[in-house]
Amino acid sequence: MEISINRETCMGSGNCAYWAPGVFDLDDEGLAIVVDPGGAEEARIRLAAEGCPTQSIVLGPDPAR
Ligand code: SF4
Repeated sequence: MEISINRETCMGSGNCAYWAPGVFDLDDEGLAIVVDPGGAEEARIRLAAEGCPTQSIVLGPDPAR
């Protein structure tokens, strides 16, 4: 799955890193980054995206498919 984060709107709540810690982390600026798009089951990644308070996580199709 393709995962992108809109860092303009991310507020650094950390919800995504809570739901899918293998996929998301916060960087030195306190904003979310993707550390490994395959680091969690798709369902958890979707939960993380739905749990983002600013809807900054955009999921797309896996470019390899
Ligand atoms: S849940 Fe959304 S606002 Fe919070 S850190 Fe992750 S991307 Fe940023």
